[in-house]
Amino acid sequence: MEDALAARATELRKELNYHIYRYNVLNDPIITDAEYDRLFHELRELEVEHPELRTPDSPTQRVGSDLSDDLPKVAHPAPILSLANAFSPEDLQRWEERNLKLMTAGTTFDYVLEPKLDGLSVVLTYVDSVLVTAATRGNGEVGDDVTANIRTIRTVPLRIPSHADGPQPPSRLVVRGEVLFQKEDFERVNEEQEAAGLPRYVNARNTASGSLKQKDSRITAQRPLTAYIYDIVDSDGLVLDKEWDTLEFMRDMGFNVIPHSEYFPTLSDIIQQLPTWESHRNQLPFEIDGLVIKINDIAARRELGISGKDPRGATAYKFPAEEATTTLLDVVVNIGRTGKVTPTASLEPVFLSGVTVSNASLHNYDLIQQLDIRVGDKVIVKRSGEVIPYVIGPVTGARDGSETPILPPELCPFSGDVLVRPEGAVDLFCPNPRCEERVFRSLEFFVSRGAMDIDGMGPETVKALIDANLINDEADIFYLEADSILALEGFADKKVDNLLQSIENAKHRPLAQLLASLGIDGVGGVVANLLADRFHSMQMLIETTNAIKAQENAFLESIAPLLSVETSDPDAARAKTRLSKPLVELAPRYVDASDLGSKLSRLLKPILSIDSSVPVEVIAERLQILTATAKSLLTIEGLGPILASNVVNWFADGYHQELLAKMERAGVNMVAEKVEKEGTSLDGLKFVITGTMSVPRDDIKALIEAHGGKVSGSVSKNTDYVVVGESPGSKADKASQLGVTILSEDDLRAMVN
Ligand SMILES: [Zn+2]
Repeated sequence: MEDALAARATELRKELNYHIYRYNVLNDPIITDAEYDRLFHELRELEVEHPELRTPDSPTQRVGSDLSDDLPKVAHPAPILSLANAFSPEDLQRWEERNLKLMTAGTTFDYVLEPKLDGLSVVLTYVDSVLVTAATRGNGEVGDDVTANIRTIRTVPLRIPSHADGPQPPSRLVVRGEVLFQKEDFERVNEEQEAAGLPRYVNARNTASGSLKQKDSRITAQRPLTAYIYDIVDSDGLVLDKEWDTLEFMRDMGFNVIPHSEYFPTLSDIIQQLPTWESHRNQLPFEIDGLVIKINDIAARRELGISGKDPRGATAYKFPAEEATTTLLDVVVNIGRTGKVTPTASLEPVFLSGVTVSNASLHNYDLIQQLDIRVGDKVIVKRSGEVIPYVIGPVTGARDGSETPILPPELCPFSGDVLVRPEGAVDLFCPNPRCEERVFRSLEFFVSRGAMDIDGMGPETVKALIDANLINDEADIFYLEADSILALEGFADKKVDNLLQSIENAKHRPLAQLLASLGIDGVGGVVANLLADRFHSMQMLIETTNAIKAQENAFLESIAPLLSVETSDPDAARAKTRLSKPLVELAPRYVDASDLGSKLSRLLKPILSIDSSVPVEVIAERLQILTATAKSLLTIEGLGPILASNVVNWFADGYHQELLAKMERAGVNMVAEKVEKEGTSLDGLKFVITGTMSVPRDDIKALIEAHGGKVSGSVSKNTDYVVVGESPGSKADKASQLGVTILSEDDLRAMVN
């Protein structure tokens, strides 16, 4: 047992030293920071539990350094320490237990929690309130002098802005903070890079570090860096007992103190908060990679002292890694229901933010080529939030020459059709709507949970039914009969009964659910509800969209000569594009417009001055008819013109009309439920609901609608009331900005009673 542990410690030391060498000397790391942290943590835990395993050359004994060769040095007044990591609630509990053992019996700790900013540590010295030096952490003892560069950061006060009648800063005050890019500032830097034809920066922390260590502070001044202050390193005569008071004091002094810090009386309170913080991290304006947890009592922290090179009184809880390295085994070509080709990576399975990942998106073949990703490469994979895992790029330093380039396919691997690339698109498409894979993907989607939700009809069943030629389209599902399914392998009586029963149930889904299941581009649950609310039946929707399509065609016919005008004038070309897409470009802006003729004369002048064969009155008249026909669709709040046009084009396709007719003959529900009206007290009023209510939000929506009111998703000046529950979002703020009346749930109930 002891031998096994000693062997593991030796192995970890060897591995870590190799990665330190790759990182520091070759500047070509082959694992992610998170993977390095894991190995380091394992070694450190081993050494804490078995101090005899610790060796002087252990990486845990060396102090990290970010010193540059070419900047002057500043000695820190006290060691600037980094923190040990914890990766789980158990790690945190062990940390507390170890600390309690070192204190007198009966000691308890309370804690301060701060987000762990993913930036660059700096140490700022103020003498008589004036910033005199600023240094990086360096090796913890000395740092690089970056005073001139720090002065360009607006969130760093050059003079401590304390109030004359408030607490005063000590004559010398040394504070510690973090310099970083806010997410949107980093995005802006990258947009500027792109605009200048330069490559995007990948890593915000490295870019912040590079920006701060410029020899010319004018370059730093152009980078929108932010600094947050979170600790006092040293001072003349200032005595504060609690971490929480320290934050408060620095805030009073006018420093930009780290936001979102919280006080907790016990460690278990903090452990309960971990999942909330993890899900919250992507909504913060800056990148964090974990949380810093400090014992609130500063004297206790001093008493606990230092273990190795880390202070015992604070620890860094790291979130599960979102990035990992693994081997790219193969690239599989996926065809979606729209025909879109997605190259998908088959990976050596790797554990990533809580799940095992063995497939990841490679986006498209342009990107594969740009990043020079090859089969056999070690690649970095990222999984963040609910997003599908994707490959960030190859680790070129790990190549041995056996890797093979990845070429885009020319033919659809399923239907053999030549793949096409629409103008301006980065993706390849299989153009054949009958492609077996496209049909399979559409059917798979149609029956899935969240769509028609047909129980017992998973992808394998769909595949088996297609292969047996029992279904070829969505409507066929509703014509399935027991005998023919029973003839298939693996389908027993009970299973078939259940399947047919769930198909029968699916015939009675609400209209909106059917609409959302059809795979109309851009029509998900929300839009489907809007359509069902406005048109009440599939019949009405088909009639309306057919009429719109006919009027659109009539419009295009009437202006046909203008569409063949050849022009190099960009304004005329723009006017021509508008004319070619009347439903998207013209009709939405002229709903209820008066004096259409003169408005169109102005808008279309660049092209009408080239070709005057179509009188503007004719264009106006045809557009007027189109607009009037499309009005019921175009005036749905929350449905944009492009979506409206998608809907019209989908329904105009004869194949789709056939499909719907076939479903209707099979008894599939095609009408919206009648909303039982209970009253008229809210007639014509528009509501927005935000925050948590005492009942599900859909119930509040139903209550409003049952009394004649309307509910929409976003606050505008047309909104009459915003109903606000607990922890409301930005909608409540917007409502007060626009002066919209705010109601509580009780207020609303009072209105309807
Ligand atoms: Zn195909």
